[in-house]
Amino acid sequence: MRSKKIETLLVSTGRKKSFTHGSINPVIQRASSLVFDSVQKKKELDSDHAKQELFYGRRGTLTHFALQQAMVELEGGVGCALYPCGMAAISIAMLAFLSAGDHILMTDSAYESTQKFCRYILQKMNVTTTWFHPLIGADIGNLIRDNTRIIMLESPGSMTMDIQDIPAIVQAVRIKNKNIVIILDNTWSAGILLKAFDFGVDISLQSGTKYLIGHSDAMIGIAVANLRCWNQLREQSYLMGQVVDADTAYMAIRGLRTLSVRLKQHGKNGLQIAKWLEKRPEVESVNHPALPNFKGHNLFVRDFIGASGLFSFILKRRLNDIQLARYLDHFTYFSLAYSWGGYESLILTSQPEELAKIRPAGSVNLTGTLVRLHIGLENVDDLVKDLAAGFTRISAYKNK
Ligand SMILES: *Cc1c(COP(=O)(O)O)cnc(C)c1O
Repeated sequence: MRSKKIETLLVSTGRKKSFTHGSINPVIQRASSLVFDSVQKKKELDSDHAKQELFYGRRGTLTHFALQQAMVELEGGVGCALYPCGMAAISIAMLAFLSAGDHILMTDSAYESTQKFCRYILQKMNVTTTWFHPLIGADIGNLIRDNTRIIMLESPGSMTMDIQDIPAIVQAVRIKNKNIVIILDNTWSAGILLKAFDFGVDISLQSGTKYLIGHSDAMIGIAVANLRCWNQLREQSYLMGQVVDADTAYMAIRGLRTLSVRLKQHGKNGLQIAKWLEKRPEVESVNHPALPNFKGHNLFVRDFIGASGLFSFILKRRLNDIQLARYLDHFTYFSLAYSWGGYESLILTSQPEELAKIRPAGSVNLTGTLVRLHIGLENVDDLVKDLAAGFTRISAYKNK
């Protein structure tokens, strides 16, 4: 299926003439009502929603179809559902397969809102969550119960970048129960650095807000599903009213065209900075899966085709509030902000006790402040100077 190389695919996919109408890019088709050619055609489409044909705005227009087809071609799987943001993709993909009283297994390195969704929404439906250590591997089999319905993975894990042994986890789960739905939050890889379907995952989803959009100016969620899960994901997402406007879908397709060059540069810049950080006396450790010293590096090399630009490092000391402000308030190029994946560099910190709170299985135990970086497309020398100046600002540790 993947005869074309990824760079070529990113440029050429989703550009069927029926989508582009003679231009290079798909048309932006804004619509609620879509006109049926005939009674016969309406009847045909009423009874078969698997067909990607114009039906009603909520089922998408040509613009959405172009993006959906592109994502399926890029990731594998058979269908792609679109959501207003990544969090909607996560919550709706889970709801689509859950019933009251079910049990789910979730990595404790999952994105914070994903965890909160379990605590505050799923719990109301009497769906219980067991959190597991991200490096659990095949031992996950021991946690599976009769009512386990979903396994939620995220690799690399949020903040600490833990790499999961996805093939071992999938195999152990399938031995116990073939029907469990295995979902991967594949945001870090933009859905292309890790081929989720090659490893037997059922649904690969991502916050397209990050690398697909790539310019920090729109939000979208993407979930690509295999044959087993596609019908249910599509129909239940439809019933839960998940729509994206055509303009945003267009922005995501536009982002795709440059994704391979952007990702390569994010990855290259990021690794260069990670290596520089490793040598700094202020730094305890660097969490970057492409560094040979990183735990999980062997799994990363085995399973991923490259790195993106998000990683973290741990300072030897815990910065107090004054030091934290002195450090974060004065960067030239690193902005203090949530999200990532855009062309610009970002910084965010987490204190040991803050991080411990979002590790319900206790998979981290830090004493120093964690700093998360998204490395943008600036020149690395400028970014290094900026980071070095940051270290100078906090080097007078002892003073306060
Ligand atoms: C940002 C992010 C999300 C949420 O995506 P939104 O588009 O902000 O809703 C989910 N998972 C991961 C790993 C993320 O980084």
